[in-house]
Amino acid sequence: MIFYAKNSAPEECCAFLGGEKDTFTHYYPLKNSAQDKKKSFFVAPIELFQNLQQINNLGQDLLGIYHSHPNSIAYPSKTDIQLALYPKAVYFILSLKPENLALFSILENKVIPLEFRVLE
Ligand SMILES: [Zn+2]
Repeated sequence: MIFYAKNSAPEECCAFLGGEKDTFTHYYPLKNSAQDKKKSFFVAPIELFQNLQQINNLGQDLLGIYHSHPNSIAYPSKTDIQLALYPKAVYFILSLKPENLALFSILENKVIPLEFRVLE
């Protein structure tokens, strides 16, 4: 994930995270089609649909949505909160300055930080 974010910098990158129960196992990179890719991300509906279908086909659930912040802290921006359309998903934000990964739940415009651990 870090590699993908650095590769896309200074533009933001995003991805779906799939898996079972509460363990994330798969990573689905999404194409950022936003007008200003340095400050936001937007994924075309067809791209969302195809990736969701792939997650379903593999018997997984969409557990999280990941995106990078090349130039800001690992906290949801106003736009991120407005565009948080999947209440069940966990939002992963990877900041590159300083390098930091944070997880949030976004429910009805409220941001709730989450604890996590990395499995080998
Ligand atoms: Zn963001």
